[in-house]
Amino acid sequence: SASALNPKVCIVGGGPAGFYTAQHLLKGRSDMVVDIYERLPVPFGLVRFGVAPDHPEVKNVINTFTQTAQHERCSFFGNVSIGTDVSVDELKKAYHAVVLSYGAEGKRSMGVPGENLAGVFSARDFVGWYNGLPSNKELCPDLSCETAVVMGQGNVALDVARILLSSPDLLKTTDITQQALESLRASRVRRVLIVGRRGPLQIACTIKEVREMMNLPETKADMLPADFEGIAEALKDLPRPRKRLTELMLKSLKVDERSPKANKQWGFRFLLSPVKVLPCADGKKVAGIRLAVNKLEGSGEEARALPTGQTQDLECGLLISSIGYKSLPIDSSVPFDPHTSTVPNNMGRVSHTAGLYCSGWVKRGPTGVIATTMNDSFETARILLKDAQSGKLDLSLNKAGAQEITSLLHTRGVSPVSFSEWEKINSEEIRRGEFLGKPREKVLDVKQMLEVAWS
Ligand code: FAD
Repeated sequence: SASALNPKVCIVGGGPAGFYTAQHLLKGRSDMVVDIYERLPVPFGLVRFGVAPDHPEVKNVINTFTQTAQHERCSFFGNVSIGTDVSVDELKKAYHAVVLSYGAEGKRSMGVPGENLAGVFSARDFVGWYNGLPSNKELCPDLSCETAVVMGQGNVALDVARILLSSPDLLKTTDITQQALESLRASRVRRVLIVGRRGPLQIACTIKEVREMMNLPETKADMLPADFEGIAEALKDLPRPRKRLTELMLKSLKVDERSPKANKQWGFRFLLSPVKVLPCADGKKVAGIRLAVNKLEGSGEEARALPTGQTQDLECGLLISSIGYKSLPIDSSVPFDPHTSTVPNNMGRVSHTAGLYCSGWVKRGPTGVIATTMNDSFETARILLKDAQSGKLDLSLNKAGAQEITSLLHTRGVSPVSFSEWEKINSEEIRRGEFLGKPREKVLDVKQMLEVAWS
């Protein structure tokens, strides 16, 4: 077991970045002790609270993370919020190195009037709601309208659109929360428009997500052929993934006639930027969105959207803005770049701060799949191990590690949740799920999670 002599590293955040960084550190040195601090009583970050419920295969990474957490030199401390319960400076005193992997919990706003009207949500909150994020438990989106508009055309936007149009009979066998499933059963949303500020050749989602939209039962694509003028001719000059994605969209133009039974629709709308959310007569609820019509300057991936001066209104009773996540500053002692909303770093070494590292979305911004996050977490771990090897990171000092932090937490009335206590929550969720014919039914609030963990 760990002694005062072991090099000790702690990781802030128990999402993919945290677990992949820990895995690589544990493998890289047989004497290194790695502790993971996570704000929630439950681990895995966006694998649990972001990844769509109908993508269970993506969540298989949890098995690898669980192995890491069960490693004899790894400990998990859930229910500990760094920056609030313990400061980063306190962690730096207790450990030889600290790795920040706390993700991107903030949301970008559209920055237009009317954004606070009822019926307008960020994708972050909407996704958090159907995935059981405790802070979004009370969201209760009103799904009694026919048309929903999603602003943004990335994979998250398509996840939201797909969940809105999926048959509840398919969703009921996933780990979607029971309350979201019931809302979706009562939903009257029949049409989802997915709006982007640039054109079909600049769309930010991947093939898999578009194909899933095209394969939705009883749902047909509703595209505007005019948006695709000249696109077929441009195909031959496109890089391969972009070409395949574009071919798929061109196919969706034709699908219409083949699905006469479709009673639901989805479609992309291009070259439109939000100007203003339009209210209902009562002034309280969303009735639509006013959009600036754009034209493209330049071509390809770098093309820029410029306003033409014209506007167009789309009616909708539900508006979800999916224009990105952003990291938030964690602690005044940690450098933060407000322009990129990341912790400034070089290959994971936090600028001007010896002993401090970062990985995942807080390091490179909120883009990329889990595999991208894995690669950049491995890079950070490699750099840290190299610094330990070269003496840049001083391992000769005795550090008390978790012992020091848990006693601080104790004096502050904070009780961490261990990984085996999380496993009690896990078992309880699986038990509740079995009852409903689902892989799990998530516990929706922190207080209840703690009750189960400590029962
Ligand atoms: P996160 O996963 O956000 O983890 C950060 C962790 O830090 C969280 O657990 C958080 O609670 C914790 N934390 C935050 N602040 C503190 C604090 N102060 N103290 C302690 N802990 C803290 N990728 C795929 O490959 N396939 C998909 O299908 C897919 N779907 C996605 C769907 C959505 C809606 C989103 C948003 C992302 C999706 N991704 C998907 C991308 C993937 O989720 C990310 O690449 C990955 O989760 C980023 O990992 P991370 O560890 O940096 O951040």
